[in-house]
Amino acid sequence: MTIVVRGYKTELDLNFGEIRRQITSKAERYGSRVITVNRFYPSSKTCSGCGYIKPELALSERTFVCECCGFVIDRDLNAAINLRNEAVCTASSAGSHACGAGGSGSLATESQSRPR
Ligand SMILES: [Zn+2]
Repeated sequence: MTIVVRGYKTELDLNFGEIRRQITSKAERYGSRVITVNRFYPSSKTCSGCGYIKPELALSERTFVCECCGFVIDRDLNAAINLRNEAVCTASSAGSHACGAGGSGSLATESQSRPR
């Protein structure tokens, strides 16, 4: 990954595959499992109160205000709640699509959790 800071290029070794491998390893060690959610799941744009999805949400908007039900919550807390709900839904349905057709996440299996 190349990052440009004030005109200077910096090469950073951000090996996300290795980070994921280590998280999976730790989870297995402690009897937990890693659940991945689709990278395009709109966790920030989705209202954790009613499920309404905002068409637009600027990064500068730090408070989520639902246009449908009026729910107001910190943007990051809203996203965290949505991700937790999606992970629980994915883990509990495990292929039955109990939380909606297709779902957005998948269970990380041994083959999926290894860096490619
Ligand atoms: Zn809402």
